[in-house]
Amino acid sequence: MADTKYIFVTGGVTSSLGKGIISASLAKLIQARGYKVTIQKLDPYINVDPGTLNPYEHGECFVTTDGAETDLDLGHYERFLNIETTQANNVTTGRIYQTVIDKERKGDFLGKTVQIIPHITNEIKRRIMLLGNKGKYDFVITEIGGTVGDIESLPYVESVRQLIWELGDDNTAVIHLTLVPYLAASGELKTKPTQHSVKIMLENGIQPDVIVLRTEHDLTPEVKDKVARFCNVKQDAVIESIDVSTIYEVPLKMQSEGLDKVILDKLKMPQNETPELGPWKDFLHKFHNPEKTVKIGLIGKYTQLPDAYKSIIESFIHAGAVNNVKVKLELINSEKITDTYFDQLEGLQGILVAPGFGHRGIEGKISAIKYARENNVPFLGICLGMQCAVIEFGRNVLNLKDAHSAEMNSATPHPVIDIMEHQKNISEMGGTMRLGSYSCKVKKDTNAFAAYSKEDITERHRHRYEFNNNYTQDYNSAGMIASGLNPDSNLVEIVEIPKHKWFVGVQFHPEYKSTVLNPHPLFVAFVKAAKEN
Ligand code: GLN
Repeated sequence: MADTKYIFVTGGVTSSLGKGIISASLAKLIQARGYKVTIQKLDPYINVDPGTLNPYEHGECFVTTDGAETDLDLGHYERFLNIETTQANNVTTGRIYQTVIDKERKGDFLGKTVQIIPHITNEIKRRIMLLGNKGKYDFVITEIGGTVGDIESLPYVESVRQLIWELGDDNTAVIHLTLVPYLAASGELKTKPTQHSVKIMLENGIQPDVIVLRTEHDLTPEVKDKVARFCNVKQDAVIESIDVSTIYEVPLKMQSEGLDKVILDKLKMPQNETPELGPWKDFLHKFHNPEKTVKIGLIGKYTQLPDAYKSIIESFIHAGAVNNVKVKLELINSEKITDTYFDQLEGLQGILVAPGFGHRGIEGKISAIKYARENNVPFLGICLGMQCAVIEFGRNVLNLKDAHSAEMNSATPHPVIDIMEHQKNISEMGGTMRLGSYSCKVKKDTNAFAAYSKEDITERHRHRYEFNNNYTQDYNSAGMIASGLNPDSNLVEIVEIPKHKWFVGVQFHPEYKSTVLNPHPLFVAFVKAAKEN
């Protein structure tokens, strides 16, 4: 018998139903009962990881402590569970095939024909079991991206079928999430798409144990009964997932629907009292009862798709609750801002300039920073946002004509942001940046120190360029200081302007570390400064 229990979450009818949030909510409820749980996402695309994807494809690329560039759902897992994930928590079809093909080239298959079954499915199963096999977790929840019935999902669904057969009924459970559409014309909720979706599961040899129904309207007992009867699951295993005002309500909804209980029952795991979720509820109470609203501008170039800035948006939700405010975040396209046209910035209590790559929209970011600096508006620059703050200060305070980042203008006379030494000879794009967690020493008597209340911190990185240390002295004398340095390489990790109300730029990504129960100190301090502004 396996020690670890495996729970699979599949989706049907449409994508974007919130499998990640259901998985994270279930994990939260199981974790609150004292179990150790982790979540994994399997993505059926051929890219080895999302690091090379345009954010408009699948939203933000989330970075883990160990430097994996991953799907944004891992961000939800960390924010809900307050745990760290790793490369093992995100697997793509590209990575599976790459491993199998590498083995084939090494001759590991001893002359056999390499096929989807068993070689690809074996590799998928190995990746699923990898998280469980050290006995570190009581539960591994595996979320399968895409929708059942898609050609590209087939090897994953087949792997799940095999694992159920191998590990046994008591050690595996399958949750299938579908949509129950509401037809306004007839005033009816329709279960047929769910029935068809379960039929596809059955054709692939899997009987779901639990069906979660995403819906905009309350499901009547008749609707639930119909789904139970025709999809062959117990009545209490039909769970309603109704639209809620924040994703952070979902664990409570799932608890009242009994999702965790059905799963624990199915897996024959003891369940004590239903957990209180006190701190979680405290957070929600603050979230729903803000004293006031704080208007903050997020300046970036992917403003058409908020998912591109998912972790930043969530960090503001966490930090807002701590400060008893609702952060009203305005996504402002940097391509629309210039030194003489900045209408959208007026009235903002704080300005955040987002991370990013490439030249498009860069001048607007620099103009927004000039506005924040000159008008004493609290400012947080993240990665490219910090680099832009350095460029702006170079151009407008130090009068370094055409100061720029070597990324945008390799011929600039003043590369105040330059390529990192170890990046110079790298030509491959995938997984080659400075990635993952690095230490930083924070200087005392700075805004950064006031936020963290400690000198030694670690933060996650994802970039190729850095502050050019040839300019450190000039910046320092002119009023922009390096308040955080990497203790090993001396790379500048934090800059700030002590004379300003609150002006901080960070080379790392604090947004990846903010969770509901551990809001990120820099976001908390920034929102506080904006609130007081
Ligand atoms: N493009 C910049 C670099 O590579 C910043 C990257 C980022 O914002 N994540 O250094």
